[in-house]
Formats: sequence, structure tokens, C-alpha cells
Amino acid sequence: MRQDINLSKNKGAPRSRRAVCEGCTRIISDRFLMRVNDASWHEDCLQCAACQQPLTATCYFRDTKVYCKSDYQQLFATKCSGCLEKIAPTEMVMRALECVYHLSCFYCCVCERRLCKGDEFVLKEGQLLCKSDYEREREINIEKNVQADIYTMHTSTMSYYIYC
Ligand SMILES: [Zn+2]
Ligand SMILES: [Zn+2]
Ligand SMILES: [Zn+2]
Ligand SMILES: [Zn+2]
Repeated sequence: MRQDINLSKNKGAPRSRRAVCEGCTRIISDRFLMRVNDASWHEDCLQCAACQQPLTATCYFRDTKVYCKSDYQQLFATKCSGCLEKIAPTEMVMRALECVYHLSCFYCCVCERRLCKGDEFVLKEGQLLCKSDYEREREINIEKNVQADIYTMHTSTMSYYIYC
């Protein structure tokens, strides 16, 4: 789960119900504390888990750790299912189910033809096949009764239908 949180600096709670810092687990007796979701932090304890830079404006929260924006993107960036390289947030991608590909990585693994808008393709165990290669393979596998879904492709999103 990805969370981008705007930090707010709050006045410390009254003495009777002092908050415990999520970072150092000590009671916060400072005048100000930082709130991240429902957790409280010392201003000094709220630092990026990767580069230790203090987080003052926004932070990214994941698995109980907080990160600055650049480390978060570095660590948890979406990766291309083709080349396994990171995908920039602004980059055009092809999606196939939960897999995301660079446009240039979206090609048939048999004939290496780039799949373009309107092409039909098959996603089989994470591998992309163009329709003709799939059909060729299907002929071979017909006795084994191998089935796969065929996806009709558009540029950045795809709808699909089951091929029978
Ligand atoms: Zn602390
Ligand atoms: Zn950082
Ligand atoms: Zn790629
Ligand atoms: Zn092909």
C-alpha cells in the first residue's frame, strides 16, 4: 500500500495524555509533534528510513517506515515486467492484468514483433505472445487442452475477452 502523507505540525497533547513517538517509542514532551496518520513523532525522529534526511513537508509511508519522496520512488517504483527496469511515473506504459511494460518492451516473445494498438495478444505465464504465435502454439497444445486468455490491446489500457 502506497501512502503519500502531508505532514502537519501539531501542538503537543496535554500532559495527561502524552503521545508516544512512533520512531523512538519515547514519550513526546516537546512543544510540537508531527502527526503521520494516527501516529505521533518527535520532529527529530521523523526522518527518511533510507537517507535519514528530516521529513518536514511530505513523507511516504510504507510498512511502518517513512521515506522521502526520492527514496520512496527509488525503492518502490513500478518495474517493467519485460526488462525489470524502473518505470518513470510519467512514462507511457502498456498494462496487461497487473503487469506493466515499457512501450518498447511490449513485444511478442516468439517473433519479437512490437505489439501495437489494436493487436491481440496473449499473456501466458507472464510471457507475451502475438495472436498468430499463440494460435500456432495452440495447435501444438490442442490435445493438452491448454487455454489462455487473449487480450485486445489499446495504447495505455486494455480490455480483454476470453478466447475459446
Ligand atoms: Zn522520537
Ligand atoms: Zn530519503
Ligand atoms: Zn521495460
Ligand atoms: Zn509473435
